[in-house]
Amino acid sequence: MRILKYIGGAIFLLVAVMVGRTVVLVPAGEAKTLKVANLDPSETNKIAANLAAAIRIKTVSFALDRAPDDAEFKAFHAFLETTYPAAHAVLNKEIISDYSLMYRWPAANANSSKKPVALLAHMDVVPVPETGLGNWTEAPFAGVIDAGGNIWGRGSVDNKGSVIALMETAERLAKAGFQPDRDIYFLFGHDEELGGDNGAAVMAKLLQERGVHFSWVLDEGSAIAVDIVPGLKSPLAAISLGEKGSVSLRFSAKAKGGHSSAPKSYTAASLAAKAGVAVMDNPYPYILDDNLAALLLAAAPELPFVRRLAVANLWLTRSVLEEKLAESQTMAAFMHTTTAFTMMKSGTKTNILPQYGEAVVNYRIHPRDTVASVVERATDLIANENVKVTRLGGREATNMSSVDGEGYRVIAETIREEFGDIPVVPTLTVQGTDSRHYDGVADGVYRFGPLVFGPEDLQRIHGTNEHIHKDAFARQVEFFEKLLRRAAG
Ligand SMILES: [Zn+2]
Repeated sequence: MRILKYIGGAIFLLVAVMVGRTVVLVPAGEAKTLKVANLDPSETNKIAANLAAAIRIKTVSFALDRAPDDAEFKAFHAFLETTYPAAHAVLNKEIISDYSLMYRWPAANANSSKKPVALLAHMDVVPVPETGLGNWTEAPFAGVIDAGGNIWGRGSVDNKGSVIALMETAERLAKAGFQPDRDIYFLFGHDEELGGDNGAAVMAKLLQERGVHFSWVLDEGSAIAVDIVPGLKSPLAAISLGEKGSVSLRFSAKAKGGHSSAPKSYTAASLAAKAGVAVMDNPYPYILDDNLAALLLAAAPELPFVRRLAVANLWLTRSVLEEKLAESQTMAAFMHTTTAFTMMKSGTKTNILPQYGEAVVNYRIHPRDTVASVVERATDLIANENVKVTRLGGREATNMSSVDGEGYRVIAETIREEFGDIPVVPTLTVQGTDSRHYDGVADGVYRFGPLVFGPEDLQRIHGTNEHIHKDAFARQVEFFEKLLRRAAG
């Protein structure tokens, strides 16, 4: 009886502490909604028509061993020149590696002591597979604006939309007589979809050689999320501080061939398959780190009570929450290095023992892990010296930029100015962007696009029916204009 009393007392204390911590996170009441945009309709239509025209120019990145289409990229350069004359009158333009564009808007005062800032975007787009063409509502390079105001086509979101939005912003600011108090760069890569080695990487190196060092850089790679964090009804703006690395590993095995009627206990195929399954079945642990905790805490006031209770008491609930959050594929990707067994090759005939087998596994590396540690862990998990582990390329995760930097503050303030009082939180980008090449030339590298994304929008980015509503597009111009006035006004 006595022991029960103690337990009862302890539980009461626990509940009291938990509720106490929870009520500190006052519920926000109604789910937050976004402020409406302000641009007038005729301006919006003009901006939309410019994006549609830009989509018609096929600046496609096909493959590393295929040169960019010279005529299309040059047509795109010419399109920018003729469409944005006021911007081109104030910007210094350089063409890098034949197709990338480096624009500099010099500070009004040449002796400005403020470090420059850079806005990044890429003008190349991924190809549209022949087989998928029929599934598009509008042809991917037709640049159609439908009756509902949707601008259709490849690049409308990723990422020609950003190039056009930034040029529209420069045009508007130039016409308004805006004079920046620091250098502003617009850096447009032409090969982001192939890794950015000829575009962004070359521009970053050149800037470094010239002694240019940015206070901050902003690229695509995150957005305003709706319905992505489980249980969160309000929109959440996530500014990404870094991005994951990646590497593929090949697990290969050799074995004696022969007739399949008298096999050993394994074949080259089974060894390779087993290795792939060994890593796939042993995922990296899901970790609720400080950044994710900051995200959850910022979201907490918008969550229902029970979830708020959990978030407010991470000291107790961390491991339960880790498990719970990882049930969402999107959240899971933020929490660990992902493992995807993607390819297998072995065998030539049903009744012949294969002499060779291989499995390929693709990893997306969380900043807390490295390419070397991924190789080491895989080798340990496979624990078979007959399986050879070979690294296929690979790149490390980037640095994580600071939430205390000037860039984070200015971007967060502009988000609230444009979209209203929504939570702004740090995050991690799980795909690659051009911005990773700029780690060495900036105090902070951030990723955020002024776009509102639901779960289905994420799937459309490299997929079928990429499109954006003209109001959502014009809103990017509004955002970038406020951002530049705030940063350099
Ligand atoms: Zn992109």
